[in-house]
Amino acid sequence: MVTMRDTTAVRPGTGCAPRPPARDTAPAPFMVVGRVNGHEVAAGVPTPAAAMRRMLDWLTLDDDASAVWYLREDWPEPVTVIARMAHGAVGETRRTAHLFQLQPGDVQCGPMSARCGAELCPSEVEWLRLGAGMPCEQCLAAAGNARRALEAVAG
Ligand SMILES: [Zn+2]
Repeated sequence: MVTMRDTTAVRPGTGCAPRPPARDTAPAPFMVVGRVNGHEVAAGVPTPAAAMRRMLDWLTLDDDASAVWYLREDWPEPVTVIARMAHGAVGETRRTAHLFQLQPGDVQCGPMSARCGAELCPSEVEWLRLGAGMPCEQCLAAAGNARRALEAVAG
């Protein structure tokens, strides 16, 4: 029981726990959820690369950890991410930057399918910023076709 004399513990009018500082950034678009040492864990992360790092961190804590990641289900629209095979995994000419469209709530586990049909394992890729790397022409063409199709539907 907290007495009123114990003024260092709880001051009247200030509530109990200090509030976390206000966030000036948007909520993290990606979520990582899993099971580590028998406990459910979840974390918001800003990028797929951060999701991979978080999953690797969990694996260092628990060899049997399991986890998946996804674009938050309440995210307003699909997000396109760009990735290529990590340096050294394949020849440089095959390290084109593929486009991957992620739908909100679609759980990612195992290989990801690029727009061109290429399958890459998220743990073996290098994530890129928009405009970085040599773009995969088939991915670009597929993205262009999708845009034209949408425009056709929109009239
Ligand atoms: Zn591609």
